[in-house]
Amino acid sequence: MGETTPTNCTKCGVELDEEEREDPRLDSDGDPICDDCYREDYQFMCCICQDFHDDTREKHSMIIVFEDVHGTAPGVYEIIAHPYYYDCMIDAGFYDWALRRIGDVPDGAEDGWAAAGHMCLGCQEKIRAVELSSIKVTGI
Ligand SMILES: [Zn+2]
Ligand SMILES: [Zn+2]
Repeated sequence: MGETTPTNCTKCGVELDEEEREDPRLDSDGDPICDDCYREDYQFMCCICQDFHDDTREKHSMIIVFEDVHGTAPGVYEIIAHPYYYDCMIDAGFYDWALRRIGDVPDGAEDGWAAAGHMCLGCQEKIRAVELSSIKVTGI
């Protein structure tokens, strides 16, 4: 303590606004960074609620695929094995055996630029709830 109030982001150098100065986000070294850099390094945007959430392991328990990726059809998938995707210099895609399709892409879900995206835990739970109720309604 007793340090001077930070005025600039230690990562990109942008000047911090008033709110960021009072209560700055800290990187893993404890240095103040701006909200944009924090989002970029430590958060992801949920494709469904379009909110930013801290990176957690949970984001890798479900995935939304928006367009056909080498035979992986659009939809919501539960990730049942890791690694679930490959990403090399020339190509990227998903492993069939690592994904279980549990539903269609929900209305309003979007990522903006990628063929697939992550969801926050709250939205994952909503999707699971819908899946369970649809099983009940359909019956077997
Ligand atoms: Zn920054
Ligand atoms: Zn969400």
